[in-house]
Amino acid sequence: MSKLIDGKVISAAVKAKVADGVAELKKQGISVGLAVIIVGDDPASKVYVANKKKACEALGIVSEEYALPENTTEEELLALVDRLNNAKHINGILCQLPLPKHLNEKVIIDSILPEKDVDAFHPANVGKIMIGDYDFVPCTPAGVMEMLKYEGIDPEGKTCVVIGRSNIVGKPMGMLLLHKNGTVTICHSRTKNLKEICLTADILVAAVGRADFVTADMVKEGAVVIDVGMNRKDGKLCGDVDFEAVKEKASAITPVPGGVGPMTIAMLMQNTLTAAKRQNNING
Ligand code: NAP
Repeated sequence: MSKLIDGKVISAAVKAKVADGVAELKKQGISVGLAVIIVGDDPASKVYVANKKKACEALGIVSEEYALPENTTEEELLALVDRLNNAKHINGILCQLPLPKHLNEKVIIDSILPEKDVDAFHPANVGKIMIGDYDFVPCTPAGVMEMLKYEGIDPEGKTCVVIGRSNIVGKPMGMLLLHKNGTVTICHSRTKNLKEICLTADILVAAVGRADFVTADMVKEGAVVIDVGMNRKDGKLCGDVDFEAVKEKASAITPVPGGVGPMTIAMLMQNTLTAAKRQNNING
C-alpha cells in the first residue's frame, strides 16, 4: 500500500505562501494582476478559467477576464494582447488553449511579453527552462516538482521515466527532473519496449491522456507514480494510471482527482506573483 500524495494539501500550502507574498507586496503599494483571455465557448476551458479567477480572488490577486467571441480575428486578439502587454496593473497574461482553429496559437503565444507569460509557453521562456535559468515553469510540471519536494522525494540519481512529450507537460517535465539530477527517459507513442522502460523507473510520470494506460505490470515495486492524466471513464474523472492496482506496488502515488490537477492552478498563482516581483525589481 502506497502513500497518497495529496495535491489538495500541497496546493493549499503553495497558495498560502502566495497569499502572504501578495499581501507583502500590497504593503509596498504593489498590486498583483492576472489577465485571462478566453476565446469561444469550449465548456472545459470555461471551467478552467472560472477556477483560475476564483483562485486569484482567494489570494488577493486582481483577475481580469477577457471572454471573446468564437469569431474573433487574429488582429483583434493580437490588439488585446498588445494592450495587456502595456498595462501596468497586469503582471501576467494567459490565453486559455486550445484556441479556435482559425487562430494561430503560436502567433498569439509569441505575442505575449515573456516577462508576463505566466504559462511559460513563450519560446524565450522555453529556452530558459532548457538552460536551467528560469523564472516561470509551465504550471503542471512545476506542480509535480513541488509535490516531489513537499514529500521529500529527491530525483537526484534516480531513474525517471516520463510518458508523453508534449511541450506543455512531457518535455518540460523531463527537463525539470534532469535539472534536479534525475536520469531521465522521455517516452512517446513511437517508443519501443515501453513496459520495460517503465519498469526501470524510480519515478514514473504519466502524461498521456488515456485512462488506465499505466497498469501494475509496468510499475517497479516501490516506485513513485505521478499521474498527470485527466480523462473521463464512465463519466468520471480519472488519470492515466490504473490507480487501484498500481497503488499496491508504488511507494507513493498521486490520485485523480485531487493530485496534480490542483497543483497546476497553485503554480499559476505562484508564477503570477513572481512576475509581479520581477516587474517591480523585487528578488525572491
Ligand atoms: P498531448 O499533447 O496529447 O500528449 C500526449 C503524449 O502522450 C504525446 O507525447 C504522445 O506521444 C504520448 N502518447 C500517446 N499515446 C501513447 C502511447 N501509446 N504510448 C506512449 N506514449 C503515448 O497531451 P498533454 O497536453 O501532454 O496532456 C497529457 C494528459 O495530461 C492529458 O490527459 C491532459 O488532460 C492532462 N493534463 C493535465 C493537467 C493537469 O493540470 N492535471 C494539465 C495538462 C494536461 P506522441 O508525441 O508520439 O504523439
